[in-house]
Amino acid sequence: MSTYNSPILEVFNLWKSYNGHQAVKGLDLNVNRGEIFGLLGPNGAGKTTTLKVIVGLLKMDKGMVKVNGVDISEEQYDYKKQIGYLPENPTLPEYLTAEEFLGYIGKIRDLPPKEIKDRINYYLELFNLEKRRKDLIVSFSRGMKQKLALSAALIHNPSLLILDEPFIGIDPTGQHHIKNILKEMVKEGRSVLVSTHMIDTAERLCDRVGIIHNGRNVASGSLEKLRRIAEMGEDSTLEQIFLKMTKEAEEVVEEKPVRRRLFSLFRKRG
Ligand code: ATP
Repeated sequence: MSTYNSPILEVFNLWKSYNGHQAVKGLDLNVNRGEIFGLLGPNGAGKTTTLKVIVGLLKMDKGMVKVNGVDISEEQYDYKKQIGYLPENPTLPEYLTAEEFLGYIGKIRDLPPKEIKDRINYYLELFNLEKRRKDLIVSFSRGMKQKLALSAALIHNPSLLILDEPFIGIDPTGQHHIKNILKEMVKEGRSVLVSTHMIDTAERLCDRVGIIHNGRNVASGSLEKLRRIAEMGEDSTLEQIFLKMTKEAEEVVEEKPVRRRLFSLFRKRG
């Protein structure tokens, strides 16, 4: 059942491991309607794993994910209609032309033929790929493939767009267009969850940011809220906050074995 006022995405106590390696350890996350939410974290923090669970590429070990109020483990297919996903390293069918590929995605997404044509024209024009529309994807540069993959993620006007490192390899004009697309989406009440290492872009673009480290939440909120949590001044940048909070989180991880050793020592003595 969908509840209009609930966040578009709710992640509760998410756990995910790979062959015994715990990648996500009890993560919580909310994305509200009409906001851009940025996911920040050091390499290996668990960002991609979290996004893959949300879009249904990986099965969670424990926890709950709700999209538009619906538990995705109870309703595994229909919720995907509301989502657009750009993976970190998109794999495209290189034997198709740009136009064929987007047409194919438009059909899968159940769009009427006229709309498919209009949207293909719109995105190819926007991303400066118009002249390459009849070329095989195999002949595209990395950035061109990224723009095409993003067009595919957007073609059905998703309510929730999930982007894993969308700006990598994209030229400045393309990045500018992507940022504008995201801003327009949220103006219409749709939402964006974006994982990125481009911290300056995240600071300017995102309404709220979640910092994660070692599969756990460190802090989340607006820049103002993060400054308060980090006990930093009102001029502090997201980069400064990120560096401080992830360093502190790292120290806690490093301290733990020491604490455990002391604890077992006391237990033995007791
Ligand atoms: P980055 O910023 O480097 O992209 P990330 O925050 O997206 O990192 P994940 O890719 O989610 O992090 O990885 C989280 C942890 O899970 C890491 O320790 C990683 O080595 C591990 N991991 C990820 N994918 C797999 C896999 N397929 N098999 C085994 N371990 C994996």
